[in-house]
Amino acid sequence: MKIALSEPNLGEREKEAVRKVLQSGDLKGGGKYDEKCATLIEEQFDATRALMTTSCTHSLEMAALLTDIQPGDEVILPSFTFPSTANAFALYGANLKFCDINRDTLNMDVEMVQELASEKTKAIVTVHYGGIACDMESILKIAEANDALVIEDAAQGVNAKYRGEYLGTIGDIGCFSFHETKSYAAGEGGAVILNDEEYIERAEYIRQKGTNYSKFQRGEVDKYTWVSLGSSYTPSEMQSALAYEQLRKKDKIKSRRISNWNHYLEELSSSPVNRYLRLPEVPDDREPNGHLFWVVVEGTNTRNELVTHLRDHGIGAASHYEPLHSSRMGQEFGYTSGDLPVTENVANSLLRLPVHEGLTRDELNFVIDTISKFEFEES
Ligand SMILES: *Cc1c(COP(=O)(O)O)cnc(C)c1O
Repeated sequence: MKIALSEPNLGEREKEAVRKVLQSGDLKGGGKYDEKCATLIEEQFDATRALMTTSCTHSLEMAALLTDIQPGDEVILPSFTFPSTANAFALYGANLKFCDINRDTLNMDVEMVQELASEKTKAIVTVHYGGIACDMESILKIAEANDALVIEDAAQGVNAKYRGEYLGTIGDIGCFSFHETKSYAAGEGGAVILNDEEYIERAEYIRQKGTNYSKFQRGEVDKYTWVSLGSSYTPSEMQSALAYEQLRKKDKIKSRRISNWNHYLEELSSSPVNRYLRLPEVPDDREPNGHLFWVVVEGTNTRNELVTHLRDHGIGAASHYEPLHSSRMGQEFGYTSGDLPVTENVANSLLRLPVHEGLTRDELNFVIDTISKFEFEES
């Protein structure tokens, strides 16, 4: 058996949409699918305004530009995340304040966010790990008390909710990813969600190379010029066509992922190996999207051996993030190993199991069975 950790599920509609783009000859960004997909996102997630981007990395960079991050501004973010969450703000000279995570949700520890927040805080960046929402109420309160903005890195949180609201639409700006490894795959791609009207005009300029090209396209100006700082964050029509077709079936994809996710949780909870595993728990006020299923075991050796054991059986299990704070770049911000114990412990002992929508019950049961056959050492 060969079971990949992640696999995009592209159907006939995706292929037909890309074929249509190729036939039209209109491949560049800012075309028909660009606006169609942005409008779909606005409708599906009840967002004020969405703009398609080339990646979540670039959505985060747009957020840094939009919020006018200046050298020395403090930005609070988790260490347990992908480097893009940090880079976007470090590129503009932000002083990064790494926050530890809560051991149950693997999201930012809000007590530590509270300790780190001050009048120097310009933004708090929330990462909704595995598509389970952060404690947004507490984070929004801390942000408000310190006059800071909230930027949601919802790369993994597309189509998940917190108290009935979609992730990415709760803070000031939200960032989505449509990378091939994410739940809604366009190869590369993303979207930036603007939850405040004041960002919309500048976001259009920033995305289109610092020009008012979007206004020109709409016939609002008769030529376009350089009006703002900016870059090239517009995806090609092929990417937007893929994202559009994936999002059109967002609830079908989500329900299959959730069903796989629940199957792991139920079967592993009731299995005799349960005593060697720590499994995710979803707080009542969060609706997950089944993006990722994690298991925490006792210690790095056990984790590495279990990953190898699963791979030997053709299962694409994998560890996840190396903490940012203790990385080479993290050390430049004054951090070192030992500073964020929960992050370090989780990073050393977590593994991810395949949960993508294409998996069959038999494949899921094979993964569970293979874990059951692993010889855990008594601690
Ligand atoms: C995948 C991911 C990113 C980067 O997304 P891209 O679209 O590949 O740039 C950023 N943050 C988190 C939390 C991610 O999981």
